[in-house]
Amino acid sequence: ATKTTSQIKWAARRRALQRRKLVGSTRTPRAAMNDDDVVEPSAGKAFSQQAMTDFCVALACRTGLLYGPPEQCTPAPTTLVPAAFPRASYERAVQLAPAMTRLADATCVDPAWLEQALAAAARADVFTDALIRVRSAAEPTRAAAAGGGGLTLGVYRSDYMVDEPTGRLLQVELNTVASSFGALSTLVSRMHAAALRFASADAEACGTLDETDDSVLPRTSDVEGWPPAPANVDAAITRHMPENGALEGIAAALAAAHVAHGRIRGTESARRHIVFVVQPGETNVHDQRLLADRLWQHHGIPVIRATLAQLARHAKSSRGSSTPSSSVPCDRLAAALRDVPDFADTADGAAKILADAGYEPGANGGRLFYRGREISVAYFRAGYTPNDYPTAVEWAGRYAIEASSAVSCPSLALQLAGTKKVQQDMADTDELRTALERKAKADGKSAREGGVEDDVASLLDAFAELCAPNTDVVARAAADPQAWVLKPQREGGGNNFYGDGLAEKLKSATAEELDAYILMERIRPASQASWMLRSARPTRVQETLQELGVYSASLTYDGQAIKDMTLDGGGELDRAVSGSALGHLLRTKAATSDEGGVAAGFSVLDSPWLE
Ligand code: ADP
Ligand code: MG
Ligand code: MG
Repeated sequence: ATKTTSQIKWAARRRALQRRKLVGSTRTPRAAMNDDDVVEPSAGKAFSQQAMTDFCVALACRTGLLYGPPEQCTPAPTTLVPAAFPRASYERAVQLAPAMTRLADATCVDPAWLEQALAAAARADVFTDALIRVRSAAEPTRAAAAGGGGLTLGVYRSDYMVDEPTGRLLQVELNTVASSFGALSTLVSRMHAAALRFASADAEACGTLDETDDSVLPRTSDVEGWPPAPANVDAAITRHMPENGALEGIAAALAAAHVAHGRIRGTESARRHIVFVVQPGETNVHDQRLLADRLWQHHGIPVIRATLAQLARHAKSSRGSSTPSSSVPCDRLAAALRDVPDFADTADGAAKILADAGYEPGANGGRLFYRGREISVAYFRAGYTPNDYPTAVEWAGRYAIEASSAVSCPSLALQLAGTKKVQQDMADTDELRTALERKAKADGKSAREGGVEDDVASLLDAFAELCAPNTDVVARAAADPQAWVLKPQREGGGNNFYGDGLAEKLKSATAEELDAYILMERIRPASQASWMLRSARPTRVQETLQELGVYSASLTYDGQAIKDMTLDGGGELDRAVSGSALGHLLRTKAATSDEGGVAAGFSVLDSPWLE
């Protein structure tokens, strides 16, 4: 077979690294890297790594590029310099954002369709089942509260990898809940640009960047324009490093939801707050606080943080001291949870906690107060994994928001629309077209006006093969487990099955158990060498793979466009929720790791150097 340009480049790159004994001697990413690969900070030329590390660590601390709980936070795990990424694939991912946004909105227009699509998965998976039941319990109150359907803010991140054998940009998944790292990702892009300027300007500390010995920087050095000469550094940054507005864009989307809430409720009360719903012991605090800072400093909107349990215990339907109603106001919640085995015993108690706090679904126009402040928007950075609902009390907190007139980001329907099962359904052309037509219709447009066929074509082009594991695909996957990934209805990384584990699972699970999973074609990205920074310490050079995420947002009544709502006359707020790309995230993981996920500890934050 003829070698691709990237393979040729790789071979040259590899020889250079081998001369410097920075990598092992075989091409395969899985080649064990031994301790010889460690670059000693004092080892001559490679000293540049230490200078770059010192620069990046100091910058991360100054700008808030941090990770971990307040008492033990460190610079976030990142790379030291950007990763080479194909420009055409990056541009394609950005172009796809509006269609991906419409798709996410389309899949939550019709809750009856969602429930039917997820019925088998719900029978096999208690968490999916509980999400469906609590959504349905809150539905009547939610619809009444906001006058014609609950307002929903979607903050999406569509993740992709470039499949090397075919050159195709393929979607890994579409996140509709807690799409994180937008703020830190923006800071990483800026840190990389600054590090590059530093390296160009201070060649003495960093090694001479423009000499042919490319061990000074482990990656992108075989890419045209890299490393830039000091005089060209700004031009090279502009040409090769795309602007990343994720922090500002996501904050503006939250601000848009806050303003829309005020319009619809007819209350501009300065005391309305956005609540960030967070996990107890949250580790990605700074990514969240950077958004909160931006909301306050740029938009004048205050943010409070609360866990689901705190919300349940302090939710009220009005600001003042409440008189708990004599009926059992949260009976629909209790009834829903009674049907979920894990929560049957505590269902009534959880509903009572909410009632005792002074929350009555639908009372006072559905307004929601938390510790005396009215909530405009509930931005979920928790609630996407069963670990976030250890007891029925957390479900009560979720229900209080879902049933209220506060904007949910996301609603339970939109969270369910982001499940792997729905992703798999949408890879079917007819299902995809029907969903997009349904959305066009709900918006009062014909399929043609809604651009359905164009969306179908461009979305299908980005989808890998996806199947339910109850077809003949199971036999194919069992015979070639390296070519597939088995995924449950989970978020947050670390949940999938690969290779031998996949084969074992397909063999041992019953057909009913497999209903909780989907099978996905394995994407094969090209590898490149990277230096990473973890807990402020540089790692050895490693072979790595890249995953690109693109953020976008939309503001809807559960999937339907909101009519005649110009929030700021086509300004920043309207643009933020228009569905276009807001910014990006590049994550880099060791080529030896199947899983991704920064929070799960598999990958680090990176930025793309477009070639
Ligand atoms: P989660 O919602 O838990 O993040 P993902 O679908 O993103 O689930 O899977 C987690 C990680 O597994 C991804 O970041 C990626 O590294 C890897 N992965 C998922 N799907 C594939 C695939 N089809 N091919 C190769 N790797 C995959
Ligand atoms: Mg996900
Ligand atoms: Mg993911």
